[in-house]
Amino acid sequence: MDRQQEFVLRTLEERDIRFVRLWFTDVLGTLKSVSVAPAELESAFEEGIGIDGSAIEGFARVFESDMVAMPDPTTFQVFPFEGGGSGESARMFCDILLPDGSPAWADPRHVLRRALARAAEKGFTFYTHPEVEFFLVQDGDNDGSVPIPVDTGGYFDHTTHAVARDFRRQAVLALERIGISVEFSHHEVAPGQQEIDLRYADALTTADNIMTFRHVVKEVALSQGVKATFMPKPYTDQPGSGMHTHLSLFEGERNAFYDGEDPQKLSKTARAFIAGLLVHAREYTAVTNQWVNSYKRLFPLQLPDRITESPAFVSWGHLNRSALVRVPAFGKPNSARVEVRSIDSAANPYLAFAVMLGAGLKGIEEGYELPPGAEDDVWSLSPAERKAAGYEALPENLSEAIEVMAGSELIAEVLGEHVFDFFLRNKRAEWEQFRREVTPYERQRYLGAL
Ligand code: GLU
Ligand code: MG
Ligand code: MG
Repeated sequence: MDRQQEFVLRTLEERDIRFVRLWFTDVLGTLKSVSVAPAELESAFEEGIGIDGSAIEGFARVFESDMVAMPDPTTFQVFPFEGGGSGESARMFCDILLPDGSPAWADPRHVLRRALARAAEKGFTFYTHPEVEFFLVQDGDNDGSVPIPVDTGGYFDHTTHAVARDFRRQAVLALERIGISVEFSHHEVAPGQQEIDLRYADALTTADNIMTFRHVVKEVALSQGVKATFMPKPYTDQPGSGMHTHLSLFEGERNAFYDGEDPQKLSKTARAFIAGLLVHAREYTAVTNQWVNSYKRLFPLQLPDRITESPAFVSWGHLNRSALVRVPAFGKPNSARVEVRSIDSAANPYLAFAVMLGAGLKGIEEGYELPPGAEDDVWSLSPAERKAAGYEALPENLSEAIEVMAGSELIAEVLGEHVFDFFLRNKRAEWEQFRREVTPYERQRYLGAL
């Protein structure tokens, strides 16, 4: 038993914790949990806990369904606010193994670990920093009706509407108590829309943190009698919820994206990485934006006082908020980073980080040239102007995104064959289901008129 494992067992005893939740994530990004009693944990550290992989989205075919959840003691966390009357509970993330002890290819955590190992071979550590947007709505039936936002606030509003402000305070406190540092939180543009930015950390920790974050935010909302949703675009006429993610590569203590000699302070590594993100953007969009609804967000929407700020075209820039990749102004060398703005709050963070990293590394390996940045608003150009400038459109819907991904060797390699095939199959089925659905829009538009 190693020291981390001993620490976990000792803490359980000292704090009289009765339940330990073992968490893992399925291919579509849904959190799964098995509870174990502390007495079973010692053997769980040695042999793992058996799970039936065939019951979990994307894990296994029925004939090879035995899998093992192996708790990762470095992720151990006591959850003080989930006492439920009889003391505290705790959780650990798990790696999923096959019965022979080898990693399960279907485990999204393993997909990210593999991508990180490839970066490490080149001497890089990959850091991410997500800005997570979501809506707070009144709790109601899930019957397809338009949800009622909890407030009428707007961007950075210090609302008098107690719900959202108190909610953010409670959520941030709850997150800090379990060791997730919050950099920033504010009201977003749409009524009911919130943003909480997590402090940057290595990508595996960030992905675990995002899974925890979604759980905590939903729980805090429930405790206040409201509902939190990470659905990418709940309202036709309001902006959607993005999860802009800032990415950086470090070589030891040094930020590999920084070059003091360069007029823009960007290293060759950073430029090639951005170029990789652009060249392969259409291929990884199905992963960063994985739902039918995701594509309703990747569309410029004119609001009375602004245009929504989610990208629809492949371009990069510094100030340009229509760009897919933005290089934010940075002061300290170690803050050099790039921001990907397409990814939404309902992505599987493990897979999304793996494909973005894979695309950036490909740019570095192949020495891709970075085209000039776009400082004008890409939305306002005519299609001919965009074509001349070389700004490709992102996929317009899930179907297009899946078919572009299906032809991508890079994404197949990063995800591994099992996840790649499952993902395509599952998403094609989702698209088919949506395609045959007659929507309220069609009835409104055609029933009377035709
Ligand atoms: N809500 C916008 C989006 O869907 C982002 C707004 C912003 O933070 O710039 O990406
Ligand atoms: Mg925002
Ligand atoms: Mg941003």
